[in-house]
Amino acid sequence: MAEVTSRCVGPIILMGPPGAGKGTQAKLIAERYGIPQISTGDLLREHVCKGTSLGLQAKEIMARGQLVPDELLYGMVAERLREADCDPGFILDGFPRTPGQAGWLDEFLKHELFDKSNPGKCLPIVVQIDVDYNDLLSRLTGRRSCPACGTIYNVHLQPPRVDELCDLDGSKLVTRNDDREEVIRERLQTYEKLTRPVIDYYGRQGRVALVNGALPVDQVSEQIFHEIERHGC
Ligand code: AMP
Repeated sequence: MAEVTSRCVGPIILMGPPGAGKGTQAKLIAERYGIPQISTGDLLREHVCKGTSLGLQAKEIMARGQLVPDELLYGMVAERLREADCDPGFILDGFPRTPGQAGWLDEFLKHELFDKSNPGKCLPIVVQIDVDYNDLLSRLTGRRSCPACGTIYNVHLQPPRVDELCDLDGSKLVTRNDDREEVIRERLQTYEKLTRPVIDYYGRQGRVALVNGALPVDQVSEQIFHEIERHGC
């Protein structure tokens, strides 16, 4: 699909429970509009791999499927959003996940990123990807990803051509540490308790576009592209 880079897309926030397909959709949006995908989960996993002080603090919390405390994330997110590639827009995948983070993001966007002469410009588009609980469980238990290029597969729904190997570069696929059943349940509960109120927060501002995440990947993206075209600045 052709890349669309000629206009400002603004911030796009992808909301939805773990396994809803935020990562997959974020990559497709990034490709189409030429804007970066910013996944706080990926950024945190990088910190864990590198053994930074943030990574050391986050590691155990992530392994339990719980949320890393808000204050630990703000520096990491602010630093990333200040990079030049975010100027035309960016996709937030996995952030904000608490009402505190949503409030912080609003302030950050207002003070740092928006055109100060026109503060209404580029209000985030919030896309909620809706998927049934049982579908989420099977997606998460079947999820595998390529450690080299990040391509996501599902052994039940979207298997690689050769068992356990990436179609694109042949790397051996990996299962995320937190995609184990007991951790998955914890992550879904955390989502309901802490992240659902974020959707309510944006909903009260009339900013949420609901898309049906049970449809095939390309149909979900079509719905999302439609929302972006409708609301983009
Ligand atoms: P994800 O890849 O988005 O599923 O995130 C993996 C894990 O990283 C989550 O289960 C949390 O432990 C942590 N994490 C990612 N994003 C956030 C966030 N916005 N707030 C708190 N913890 C987060």
